[in-house]
Amino acid sequence: MSQPLTPAQLDELKALLLKRKEELQQEMQQNRENLKPPTSDEGGVVQRNVAREVDQTLTDLDATDIVRIDRALKAMADGSYGQCGECGCDIPFERLKIEPQTEHCVTCKGRWEERAGRA
Ligand SMILES: [Zn+2]
Repeated sequence: MSQPLTPAQLDELKALLLKRKEELQQEMQQNRENLKPPTSDEGGVVQRNVAREVDQTLTDLDATDIVRIDRALKAMADGSYGQCGECGCDIPFERLKIEPQTEHCVTCKGRWEERAGRA
């Protein structure tokens, strides 16, 4: 049985979330710039299109992460942060420090991955 988070631990995780969000937003901004149509066309079109598809995928992934970070910050505000969305246990601080936007404990996540692997 793990302990609920202390205010100091919450502060630390909040700082991590905000930093991560900022990084993602910068990445997305960068990707958006890459997605702009080429201004001049002097060959290498195919290569550029492939690069743009990859960037689009990355942008989508980043957007999903930002949504999760926002959800985590909102949960912090209403006091439900750090609880597993599946079983309701307190997610250990050590795990949150690695992935502060996580919404599930290792046990639940592991169970899912096991299920997904079998499917
Ligand atoms: Zn759980």
